[in-house]
Amino acid sequence: MKLCRFNDNRIGIVRADGVHDITGILEDLAPVRYPLPLGDPLIANLERLRPRMEKLADSAKPVPVDAVKFLSPVANPSKIIGTPVNYHAHRLEADKDKDISVYSPSTRARPIEEQGLFLKAVSALVGPSEGVATRFPDRRTDHEAELGLVIGRRASNVSDAEALSYVAGYAIALDMVVRGPEDRSFRKSIDSYAVLGPWLVTPDEIGDPANLAFSLKVNGEIKQKSNTRLMVMNLPRQVSWASSFYALLPGDIIMTGTCEGVGRVVPGDTMSLEFERIGRMDVKVRAA
Ligand code: MN
Repeated sequence: MKLCRFNDNRIGIVRADGVHDITGILEDLAPVRYPLPLGDPLIANLERLRPRMEKLADSAKPVPVDAVKFLSPVANPSKIIGTPVNYHAHRLEADKDKDISVYSPSTRARPIEEQGLFLKAVSALVGPSEGVATRFPDRRTDHEAELGLVIGRRASNVSDAEALSYVAGYAIALDMVVRGPEDRSFRKSIDSYAVLGPWLVTPDEIGDPANLAFSLKVNGEIKQKSNTRLMVMNLPRQVSWASSFYALLPGDIIMTGTCEGVGRVVPGDTMSLEFERIGRMDVKVRAA
């Protein structure tokens, strides 16, 4: 199933013939009162609601995907987690380019196990239709194309072997960043610097998430091209390692690292990302 959020917070299922509006499913969610529970309630109930979602989609008239505006398929994550330098070729380019890796020469682009995972502010999250609004025009804002992994149920101290059973699905992610000397979480948390879309694809439609070809073009020119099988730290380990530090909650997003070819975008550019078995999304860049 491909689940999306579109236009004015409509919920949809994407099929070959277009987007089927299933917004009525929200009536099946328990009403919430203050204090709001952490995590995304729709993602938390995905498994339970899926049969009814499919039934609603069967009776909804499809709208072409080009005719809707896609928002982030996850509305309320409690965390956006980032995995640093997770493709060997990107580590090599980061070592060579001091703008990418601003650590001292001895610690530049250290292995993931030494750096740990990082966090991006959830307020940075947008969908592809909202675009990226760059700040600090005198500094580099770079694109990082990544596989986005979305957690489906609470995971704490889970093993590598069971880790992927906690996954609700996958989406295309853009871990945007302004390069510079400040803490990475600061530079990667600018409003709109976390893009997720165009929809969430459930694991049954993904097959092996560790074998997905992907690419990113800027204005039609190919910049990043790789395959998720080239990750240094695999997906189960990222989930289990993260869950050994903090509980992962439904809707939490892991941006699983980028491949080589990162580079600058400026207002007016369009980034086009494609992931095998997920789809394609276009993201426009403008000045904030
Ligand atoms: Mn990244």
